[in-house]
Formats: sequence, C-alpha cells, structure tokens
Amino acid sequence: MNPLLSTNFDACTKCTICTEYCPVSQVRPAFAGPKQSGPDGERQRLKDAAFYSEALKYCTNCKRCEVACPSNVHIGDEIALARKKFAPYNLSPRDAILSHTDFMGSMATMAAPIVNFMANLAPTKFFLDKFLGIPSWRSFPRYANKTFRAWFSDNAPDQSVYKDTVTLFHGCFVNYNNPSLGKDALKLLNALGVGVRLLAGERCCGVPLIASGFFQDALDNATTNKASIEKALENTERIVIPSSTCTMTLRDEYPEVLQIDNSSWRDRIDLLPRYFYRLLEEGRELKFKPMEKVVAYHTACHMEKLGWTAYSIDLLRLIPGIKLILLPSLCCGIAGTYGFKKENSPTAQKIGEPLFDLIKGSGCSLVVSECETCKMQIEMCTGLPCENPVTILADALI
Ligand code: SF4
Ligand code: SF4
Repeated sequence: MNPLLSTNFDACTKCTICTEYCPVSQVRPAFAGPKQSGPDGERQRLKDAAFYSEALKYCTNCKRCEVACPSNVHIGDEIALARKKFAPYNLSPRDAILSHTDFMGSMATMAAPIVNFMANLAPTKFFLDKFLGIPSWRSFPRYANKTFRAWFSDNAPDQSVYKDTVTLFHGCFVNYNNPSLGKDALKLLNALGVGVRLLAGERCCGVPLIASGFFQDALDNATTNKASIEKALENTERIVIPSSTCTMTLRDEYPEVLQIDNSSWRDRIDLLPRYFYRLLEEGRELKFKPMEKVVAYHTACHMEKLGWTAYSIDLLRLIPGIKLILLPSLCCGIAGTYGFKKENSPTAQKIGEPLFDLIKGSGCSLVVSECETCKMQIEMCTGLPCENPVTILADALI
C-alpha cells in the first residue's frame, strides 16, 4: 500500500476545486462530492465507522478529482478504500453479471450468435430492466464468435521472427467483444518490428469488480495478473495495453486500492499509443495512406488521469488528410458498468449530454477514444462510430 495514502487527507487545503471537476457532483445532489466523501469523510470515518455514507457508491471512480487536486490528495482512492472497508457485501446478481467479465465473456462467446440475437429482443430487455435493473433502452456490446486468444493461438503469424518482443495485455473487451482491436495492435507492432506474446494467464484487470464492490475477486484477479506479468517480463521488455482503463488499473489501482505491490514493474506497463510513439522516436517507421476524415478525439477520464493523450493525438496527426478535432475533456457518463445500472443511468446520461452535443455538432464522422466503455456510450448516444486510436492507425497503415 502507498504509505502516504492513509494520511493523505491531511494534504487537503479545502480549496473545493475537486468538487468543481466532479462530474457526479454537478448532476446528482445526493452525492456529497469528492471533498466531503474523500478527505473530509475520511477524517470522520477514522473516528467512527457510522460516518460511512452509502452515497459513496455514486462515485464513478473517474479520478477527475485527483487530476484537479493541487495537493495530490488521492480522493478517488480514499472513496474506493472506504467502500472496500465499510460497504456491505454486494449480493446483487445484476452487479455480479456486469462485473465478472471473464466468466460472462467466456460463456457468451461460446454461443455468441444466440446471445447477440437474444440480447436485442424486447422480452429480454424487459426482463433485464424489470428483474435485474439494467435499463431496457441500453445497447449491449456484441460478443465475438471466437476469443482473441483463440484467434491468436490459431492464426497469428509467427512472432518469433522479430528481434524485439512485447507482451500484449489484451483486456476483456478485446478478448470477448472486439478481437479486431487486438489484431490491429498486432499489425502495428509487427510493422514496427516487434513481435507479440500474450500473458500465460490473463484475467480481467479487476476494475469492474472494484466498482461493484467485489474486492476479493478483484484481488484474486490482480494476484494472478501480477504473477503472469512478472513471469512475462523475464523475457519481454514491456507489457502493452490498448485500453486506458486497464492501463490505469494495473499501474495505479493495484497498489492504491488492492495493495498489490507493482513497484518493480509499474513503469513497464505502457499504453499502446505511448509505446508506438517511443518506437517512432527511436527512429522506427510507420507509413500511412491518406484518410480524408473528420475525426473527433475524446479524452476518456482514465486517459486524463494517465496524462498520455498527447501520444495518441500526435500519432493520429501523422495520418495524411485526417482532420482532427480535439474535444474538451468531458466525462461521457458511462464509467464502466455504472451507466448500465438503472439507478445510475439518469446520472450517467446527464453527465454525458454536453459531450454528446459537442460530438454531434462537430461535423465529425468518427470519434476516437482509448476507452472501450466510452466507445459503447458514445456510439449509443451519438449514432457515430467510436474507435481506439490503434484501430485508426492500423486502418491507415500502408
Ligand atoms: S482539490 Fe484537493 S485540496 Fe482541494 S478540496 Fe479537493 S481534495 Fe482538498
Ligand atoms: S472519482 Fe470522479 S465521481 Fe468520484 S469523487 Fe472523484 S471526480 Fe467525483
């Protein structure tokens, strides 16, 4: 555990900047906001657990308060740790389904055509809404017929021909829903002269489990991932990841929220665009064909926390003809599984409205984001496609 974290609330100067930046505080009065839920609340909770408020569950863990805080208070982490310590154990079947992505993904991909068909039927949506609390108007990500891992072991070109190798932490979304993003990552890495390995055992990074209060399951996943990562780093230089949320979780949530010591490898966890950027700086080359498109870049909350948007933006600007619009950094509201929960969905939609209006008014034909759930939310709420920068770069590759 970060030794500073237990006393980190003392650094709070009560400036309230975090409250200004909290997307939930703006639209949900029941949530006291980051200052009161984080450092102020922590002082009280230390004196008496009765000060724990159930309203802490309204925090989306977006971390925008932490980015804004001039005193580096780990506000989001304090809220997550308070929930871990005081919240009653979650017995909600809905939350278990939404957060156990490996279990659900491996089941659903075995019967993907049926699952995808059933998920869109009105009676299914009615059942999910009435009995599980997942709003009927929400669209679901489609499941792939074959996982990315299965495709990789059957079809990936020989990776041993490359002098350099990295390990790809593909994440659940790539594995179960969008294997083409993993194939795009492979295409770009190979074009840069880098071979790809997968972790021997990869589990969900754990962020949906943390968000839904399944801390022990998140810890089990993190422990497995830590062992796999440490083994992989004996033979490869880095772990690279397409998703901003998985990247932030492995680097920051593991030590801060799950007390997993990643100090020996944290700095070897990289977001794919940042890794591509380093290779280009070293003198490697990628050649792109023109792409005459207006593309709007959306800064996902966890990209804001990582502080790495510039790598993606600079890379996209290498594509000839692309017109890149940089949207103001605003939360889309979905926050992983948060927006799939009926009690949160009005908040999620209200948070996202200004962003959706900006996208719709921008004249873009494509949105770009490193976050898979931002993709789901933006596509559902604007009708426009939203892709990871890795996919856009791979599409433009000559
Ligand atoms: S921004 Fe930081 S210092 Fe200011 S009130 Fe929030 S936690 Fe305290
Ligand atoms: S993590 Fe996000 S939702 Fe939670 S208190 Fe901070 S800004 Fe608000």
